[in-house]
Amino acid sequence: MPESPELEALRIRLEPTLQGEVLNRVDVFPARAHLLRSPPAAFKDLVVGRRLTQISRRGKHLILNLAEGPEGTGNSILQLIVNPMLGGRFQLARAGARPSATVFELGFGTERVLRLLDPRGMSRTYLTARPDLDVPGWSELGPEADQVGTEVGLEAFRRSLRRRRDELKDLLRNQTFLAGIGNAYSDEILFSAALLPLRRRVSLTPADEIALYQAIPRILKGALASILAQPPGDLSRQDRSFLTVHGRVGGACPRCRHRLSQLGTKREPLTFCRGCQV
Ligand SMILES: [Zn+2]
Repeated sequence: MPESPELEALRIRLEPTLQGEVLNRVDVFPARAHLLRSPPAAFKDLVVGRRLTQISRRGKHLILNLAEGPEGTGNSILQLIVNPMLGGRFQLARAGARPSATVFELGFGTERVLRLLDPRGMSRTYLTARPDLDVPGWSELGPEADQVGTEVGLEAFRRSLRRRRDELKDLLRNQTFLAGIGNAYSDEILFSAALLPLRRRVSLTPADEIALYQAIPRILKGALASILAQPPGDLSRQDRSFLTVHGRVGGACPRCRHRLSQLGTKREPLTFCRGCQV
């Protein structure tokens, strides 16, 4: 599942290419049309002819701002908001043969298309002028996880943390606490902070709180840099070979050499080290 670093890297890569372009064609593919939260015909009517004025991100959603009229000066802005969930991936490609997992294809100019692919069929796409009304959970989203250490200072982080009682793994994935962290980066952050994922928030010492506060930006910034250092190639390929512990059950802990453990389901594994996370 793409999390904050993958979506931020995607935003950084797409924006210079597509910002200011007019959307002149939209194809929605019937087998996956149900993943759009608006009827496909209305979806096409509403977006064709609009200008893509901005690409942004909120938590684990990518947002395309589409302004009315080819000049993009109309007042009516619609937002195309995609929550890729487990398997949604974007692909910037030349028009032509499309993968069978395509949900929709947005055509810019004569040959460039932005596709949403979703082999697992779990993504959600919304077209709205009011995400707070139309996107489930939107208004409850917490601050962006990548703002911890900057806009979210230690005191604000502590206040928010101390209001919660969850286990740390669940806490980090709770989008009302911080938006943008999922299963992979919560493992990486907890490993980096040397905290056990099943530890309860109430057991944290002030030093543990600081360790967590510092690990969040360290991991997210490092991941973003690693992703941006990969060759651009096909944006739909997600290469997470730089991760330290997530998904590496049975391997040696890079810090203490203990064998890494795994809990959770096969689809959502939780990886950690019993040797050095406490
Ligand atoms: Zn270890």
